[in-house]
Amino acid sequence: MKEAGRIRMTTPLVEMDGDEMTRILWKMIKEELLSPFVDLKTEYYDLGLEHRNDTKDQVTVDAANAAIKYGVAVKCATITPNADRVKEYALEEMWKSPNGTIRSILGGTVFRTPIIVRGIEPCVRNWERPITLARHAYGDVYKNAEIKIPGPGTASIVFTGADGRTLTEVVHEFDGPGILQGVHNTESSITDFARACFTYALDIGQDLWFAAKDTISKKYDHTFKDIFEDIYEKDYKDAFAAAGIKYFYTLIDDAVARVMKAKGGFIWACKNYDGDVMSDMVSSAFGSLAMMTSVLVSPSGVYEYEAAHGTVQRHYYRHLEGKETSTNSVATIFAWSGALRKRGELDQIPELCAFAHRLEKATLDTIAGGRMTKDLALITSLQDVKVLNSREFIKAIRVKLEEILKQN
Ligand code: NAP
Ligand code: MG
Repeated sequence: MKEAGRIRMTTPLVEMDGDEMTRILWKMIKEELLSPFVDLKTEYYDLGLEHRNDTKDQVTVDAANAAIKYGVAVKCATITPNADRVKEYALEEMWKSPNGTIRSILGGTVFRTPIIVRGIEPCVRNWERPITLARHAYGDVYKNAEIKIPGPGTASIVFTGADGRTLTEVVHEFDGPGILQGVHNTESSITDFARACFTYALDIGQDLWFAAKDTISKKYDHTFKDIFEDIYEKDYKDAFAAAGIKYFYTLIDDAVARVMKAKGGFIWACKNYDGDVMSDMVSSAFGSLAMMTSVLVSPSGVYEYEAAHGTVQRHYYRHLEGKETSTNSVATIFAWSGALRKRGELDQIPELCAFAHRLEKATLDTIAGGRMTKDLALITSLQDVKVLNSREFIKAIRVKLEEILKQN
């Protein structure tokens, strides 16, 4: 397509490059699927591990601040260093997870959504539309204090206020050895979580479900329920009604039962532990980790889009040996389309939103037409599929995309 026909952008998208196989895909996606059609305006941050090390991880902080400045970011998968990586990359330090750093600067909630396509059927027959999972990523059992009780005695919890006053509750009178755990959460974190969930539900026009165990946990879980309810009543009820969507609270066990019978097409907000467990169940039941997108939404409305999977290290090592890879780029493509659509919405560039939609359609049509990467070929219900390598798959999407763009 000629230069002049490319879609113009007005505000830069914050682009966070990453590592290994996804870094290779990132470049191919830009070259084949984006740059020919969009006059890409990005502010580029190289979050590849080498550059993070060179900048003492300052680049991650800078990228997060740029996301706050511009409002929309797209991120490639990145290595979270462990001892092996420190050796492999001769790192100065075991730098923290970039996602953790970015989340601690932006705050907010991660929403994960499976990409549904004809030919990859969910294990749960009645799931016709995606279920988006929102996990409250703070507190509870993930920031606990634990004691292994050696023998008989009394276990209590004590809160000492800043004014010195104390609140005490006996947990249990032990008559032998046992275990004890203290967990907490904060009103501000739960409030941010609730706001991010309501905001995102309005943004994508889907119902919001939230569940806890308030019948058993009359103060702890009940507080979650109350905070959601208060914020909804105060700030979102009218907007939800206007958008024709609902907020629905139920008990966690009832929610699980209903999710299994539901058709999908809603957001399921979960407490930290429930979200940890349920996101793995929902994503594997929908088919493949490679078909899961993820967006971090901050309470102030900053959006950061990425694939839910990692850097696909095994494939990268094959790639380095000069061997062919068949790595699925769908979630990374959808991270870009999500970010471009959001940029288009904010800047009122309808062509950019339309392009994002067509890019997604081209990707899904390619798979539904029987051309896919190996991971999908292994689970598809389609007959006679053609397995493509990483580059061929992106090129096949390019062909479809050009067809779609010609029709419009
Ligand atoms: P991974 O990259 O998600 O890959 C695990 C396995 O899942 C792969 O070996 C592959 O299976 C399959 N897979 C995942 N994505 C795929 C795709 N797009 N196409 C085809 N197959 C795919 O997880 P990992 O290997 O445990 O982690 C690698 C690195 O990623 C780690 O350094 C970790 O820190 C990082 N990570 C980053 C993020 C993030 O930035 N958001 C998230 C998770 C992990 P087969 O090998 O069987 O084909
Ligand atoms: Mg988990």
